[in-house]
Amino acid sequence: MSLQLYNSLTNQMETFESLEPGVVRMYSCGPTVYDFAHIGNFRSFLFGDLLRRTLELFDYQVHHVMNITDVGHMVEGETDKMSEAANRMKVNKKSGRVPEGAVEDPNDPYQIADYYTNAFLEDARKLGYKIASEYPENVPKATDHIEGMQGMIKRLIERDHAYVAEDGVVYFSVESFPKYGELSGNTLEKLQSGAGGRVSDENQSRKRHPADFMLWKPDQHHVMKWDSPWGVGYPGWHIECSVMASELLGRDVIDIHTGGEDLIFPHHECEIAQSCGASGAESFARYWIHARFLMVEGEKMSKSKGNFFTARDVFNGDATGSEVHPAVLRYELIKSHYRANMNFTKKGLEDSSGVVKRMLDFEARLEQETGGQAAEVDLSHPVLSKFAAALSSDLNISEALAVVIPWLRQEHRDPRESLAVWRAVNSVLGITDITEESAGGDPIFDQVQQWGEEMKEARSRKDWDASDAARQKIIDAGYEVQMVKDGGVVITKSLA
Ligand code: AMP
Ligand code: ZN
Repeated sequence: MSLQLYNSLTNQMETFESLEPGVVRMYSCGPTVYDFAHIGNFRSFLFGDLLRRTLELFDYQVHHVMNITDVGHMVEGETDKMSEAANRMKVNKKSGRVPEGAVEDPNDPYQIADYYTNAFLEDARKLGYKIASEYPENVPKATDHIEGMQGMIKRLIERDHAYVAEDGVVYFSVESFPKYGELSGNTLEKLQSGAGGRVSDENQSRKRHPADFMLWKPDQHHVMKWDSPWGVGYPGWHIECSVMASELLGRDVIDIHTGGEDLIFPHHECEIAQSCGASGAESFARYWIHARFLMVEGEKMSKSKGNFFTARDVFNGDATGSEVHPAVLRYELIKSHYRANMNFTKKGLEDSSGVVKRMLDFEARLEQETGGQAAEVDLSHPVLSKFAAALSSDLNISEALAVVIPWLRQEHRDPRESLAVWRAVNSVLGITDITEESAGGDPIFDQVQQWGEEMKEARSRKDWDASDAARQKIIDAGYEVQMVKDGGVVITKSLA
């Protein structure tokens, strides 16, 4: 079945073809770990997850990589988001959201980054974001790749794509890359007069072109800093993705790159310039796929409007007044098309909750009737073929769900066949596998949680042998266990 995807690079629908037959190399821009991830972030991440799972349904082997931005993400006015987080905690602990005592030293940006990385992974696993179970192999941290970034910066200087300005800052020279603007439409002529991304006026005079962007900034006082040929300092934000994509996916040219629409410019435009500039290849990613923004009750989500929700706010009921199961939030965030502005509403969540419940009941009934023995089916099955056809049309999820939901209600004369169909459908939707675990409805999970408590308790006594023994029992039961800073233990069902 041929998969059609809307490529932001060409602004048209294209038939997807991977560079290597049967294998897809895909990169998604990940979270900046300076706060808990919000539902808009997860909307973008879960669309990437849906794309990956769809490719897997179509029998591709998907090598997916997503970074953790723990340094270098600049906000307006040239502060780094990580130092902003450190400052927030220093100035007023209450406004920083790391709970008191959760990190030993709230002035240490590494501890803050670690705390939010773990929180992100915990939320992402609850939401069935597959790649979160591939941490750390496929989920690299920017701070672990500084050497690679310096290597790419050196190469860019050698190839005359970058220069050291008077003040010692290393910039990418956009004029050295005629294709700059190809993705976003922000060509050099258009940018000549305007601001070149997130840079302050003070720097404009030192740059050759206003759109030249920072690769390395010498700064002795920055909260995170490394030695470099250009002085002690830190990397720009864009360079990390170019480096981690090629290092972890092992190619200069990858198949798919995803992110939210706000990343098209400057982030992705700059990634293309860096990657192609360094490798000399014609392209960096062949398909650029972007998710439109999430709105809340028809409005832009913003802290000042009070409609800004983290995934945790939704889980624990702070967002809507009642607790929301992670499977319900997942369903809500994936059920509308990635190129439509998704509108997050209380009513939508209620509807999603009804559908998820129906899916759970359906699966439980079939599992019971068949003793878990499914038949063999493939994509030629009448229900699956319609489901897959809808997804193959630029991930038309609403049409795919319109095939599945009425089918759940039909009579199922051959439960083994229906179970097989359902499992294939659920491999894409990813709904019921997270439910058992996080609802605690699975008797094994209750036991596993008990071992988790034992582990926590043993750790607090510094009884490492007892902690290891409990940990091993959890792993043997097919769960993953992760230790987090505050002595907590996070347990997730292994998705492998
Ligand atoms: P950040 O942690 O800010 O680097 O963002 C992580 C991801 O979330 C990026 O792919 C952003 O494009 C995406 N994102 C941020 N806000 C929203 C939103 N309101 N709706 C959808 N995606 C978003
Ligand atoms: Zn990125």
